Amino acid sequence: MDDLERIRSEINSVDERILEALADRRKLAQKIIEAKDHLGTPIRDAMREEQLLANLIARGRNQGLDAHLITRVFHEIIDDSIRSQQLHLLDYDKSELKRVAFQGIEGAYSELAGKKYFAPYLDQTVFVGVPTFEQVVNAVEDGDADYGLLPVENTSAGSMNEVYDLLSCAQLSIVGEEVLRIELCLLATDEVPLSNIRHVYSHPQALAQCMKFVSKLPNCQAMPYADSAMAVIKVRDEKDPSMAAIASEEAGRLYGLKILQRNVEDQQNNYTRFLILAKRPARVDLRIPCKTSLIISTSHEEGSLLKALTLLHEYKINLSKLESRPIPGMSFQYLFYIDFEGNIAEDRVAQAVEQLRSATTSLKVLGSYPAQHRAKTSPRIETLAGGPPEPEPAPPEPAAEIKEAVSYKLASRGRKADDTIISVRGVKIGGPGFVVIAGPCAVESREQIHKCARYIKECGGQLLRGGCFKPRTSPYSFQGLGFEGLEMLAEAGREYDLPIVTEVLSPADVEPVSRYADVLQIGARNMQNFSLLSEVGRSNRPVLLKRGMMSTMEEFLNAAEYILDRGNHQVILCERGIRTFETATRNTLDLGSIPILKRLTHLPIMVDPSHAAGRRDLVIPLALAAHAVGPHGLIVEIHPEPEKALSDGPQALHFSQFADLMRRIYQSK
Ligand code: PEP
Ligand code: MN
Repeated sequence: MDDLERIRSEINSVDERILEALADRRKLAQKIIEAKDHLGTPIRDAMREEQLLANLIARGRNQGLDAHLITRVFHEIIDDSIRSQQLHLLDYDKSELKRVAFQGIEGAYSELAGKKYFAPYLDQTVFVGVPTFEQVVNAVEDGDADYGLLPVENTSAGSMNEVYDLLSCAQLSIVGEEVLRIELCLLATDEVPLSNIRHVYSHPQALAQCMKFVSKLPNCQAMPYADSAMAVIKVRDEKDPSMAAIASEEAGRLYGLKILQRNVEDQQNNYTRFLILAKRPARVDLRIPCKTSLIISTSHEEGSLLKALTLLHEYKINLSKLESRPIPGMSFQYLFYIDFEGNIAEDRVAQAVEQLRSATTSLKVLGSYPAQHRAKTSPRIETLAGGPPEPEPAPPEPAAEIKEAVSYKLASRGRKADDTIISVRGVKIGGPGFVVIAGPCAVESREQIHKCARYIKECGGQLLRGGCFKPRTSPYSFQGLGFEGLEMLAEAGREYDLPIVTEVLSPADVEPVSRYADVLQIGARNMQNFSLLSEVGRSNRPVLLKRGMMSTMEEFLNAAEYILDRGNHQVILCERGIRTFETATRNTLDLGSIPILKRLTHLPIMVDPSHAAGRRDLVIPLALAAHAVGPHGLIVEIHPEPEKALSDGPQALHFSQFADLMRRIYQSK
C-alpha cells in the first residue's frame, strides 16, 4: 500500500468513528428527551449549551482546532438534537406511509423543501407533484394527501399573493414551516459559453430573482415557464444548445443538464419559506418554540387595526409578520395575515386570541406550529478573546516613524433620549455593549480576507471590515479590487458568520454595494460629500460615518443629520483622528470627543485607533485608552502580513497583537 492509500484508509476509519459517535450522541439525546418528557423540563438549557461550547472550544484549542470549526460543528450537532427532541414531542404518527402534495414536478424547490422537512421520515413519505397551488390544497382537503406544501414568501421576490388568498378559504391548518435557501443554477444541454445562450426558461418567480444576471447575457430573452423543473425538461427535450433553464442543481442532475453557472440569483441571501398544511391542527408541546398564524379582518373604522395590534402588544406577543390582502369583492377592505411567536395552547396566547375575536370582524386561526428558526448558542466573547493559547509573538518593531504618508436635530439627545441600538445581523451596536470590527484596510485576495475573517472569529471579533473601493491620497496607489473584492469579502463574511463593513465612494455604488454589505462605510474624506450622504440616507443599510479629518463635532453631527433626514436612522459615528499640527502620528485621536458626543447624540460611537495612529505600535495603547472613555466599540486594521499590505500596512496589527488586544479588552476584569 502506498502512503496516500494508507492515509486515506486511516481517514476512512476516523470518519467511521465520527459517524458512530454521532449515532451514539443522537441515541443519548433521545434518552434525554424521554427523561425530560417525564420530568417536564424544557428542551433547551441555554446555560448548559453555553458551558458545553466553552469547554469544547477550550479543549479543541488544546488539540489545535479553531473555535469557529468547533462552534460550527457543534451548532449542527446541538441543532440535530433539538430537531429530534422536538419531533419526539410532536404527535406525528410514524407507523403509516404519508403522502405529501406539492406544486410542480420532481426536482422542484417545493419538493426539496418537503424532503428537508420530512428528512427523519423519508422512508415513510411519498411526494406527489400537482400542477397548481390550488390542487395542493384540494389534495389535502379531499384526503388524497396527508400534507400539502406551499411556498408563502421569498426574501427577494416577496409574498406569494395567490397562496395567501388560498389560505383564507382552505379548510386546512398550518402544521409546520420550512425555510429553504434557493440557489439557482443556469443549466443547458452542453457546456457552451454564456454568450451563446439566447433563451432562458424558468418560473416567473425564479426569473425575477435573477433579473440582473439574465439582463447581462447578450441578446438573451427571459422566457417565463410554468415551473422551474419543467423548464429543465423543456431544455433537455429541445436539445437546442442556445437554450438554458434556471432551476435547482438537483433538477439539473435529475434531468441530465450541465451546470453553466451556479448562484445566478441577484441577492446572495435568497430564501423561500414554505408552509406545511394538514387537515387537523398540530398539537405542539409547550416546550417547543412555536409560531401561530391568524387571519383577521377589522371594521372599516379609524384605528380598528391599531386596536387589534395593541391587544397583542398588551399580551406581550411578538409579531413576526403582518401582511394585508384585499377582500375579494369588497373595495378597499382588507384581510390581515398575522404571524406571531407563541402557541395557541398557552393560556396567554389563547386569551389574547379570545380578546382579539371581539376586536375584529372575523378571525381564523391557521395554526400553531414549531418555528423553524432555532436560536444558536454563541460562545461568549470572553471564551474567545485572545484566540489561540499562545499567539506567536509579534516581530520587534523598527523604531521608524510613520512612513505613509446646534444645527442638527434628529441626531440630538434632545430629540431622542435613549441610546440608538443598531442591530447588524444580530450584533448590537450602541447601548451597553462593546463591539469590535476588524479586518484589513483593503481586500487584497481571497486567501488574505479569509485568513483575517477566521482569525477575527477565533478571537471574538464581531464584524469584518475590508475596503474594496479605496479613497487613496495618490491616484497611483492601490485603489482596491472593486466588486471582485466585495464578493471575496462577502464570501468570507458568510463562511465565518461575520457581518461585513465596506466603504462606498460614489452615489452610484450605494445600491450595488448594499447588495453585499451589511454596513456601508463613509470615509473621512467623504464626510461632507452631501450627495453620497443623501444616497446612503435613502438606503436601508446601517452607515458607519467617519469623522472628517478637518471637521468639528458639530459638522460631524450635521453630516449624520443628512443621512437621518433622508430616512435612514441607522448611523454609527466613528472617531478616527483629526488633523492637527502634530506630525508624529498620522492624525490626532480626539478621545475627548467621545464623552462629549455621547452627551450630544443618541447615535452609537466607535473609535478607529488605526487611522488615527498610522503606526502599529500605538494602536493597542490608543485602543485601550479609547475603551476607557466609553465608546460603543472599536474598528481596527489587521493583516496576516502587514509588511506586504497594499495599503496602510504600517498601522495594521499582526494577528498576535490583535489577539492580545482582544484579551486585554474582554478579559480585563
Ligand atoms: C479606512 O477605513 O480604510 C479608511 C480609508 O478610513 P478613513 O476614511 O478614516 O481614512
Ligand atoms: Mn485604511
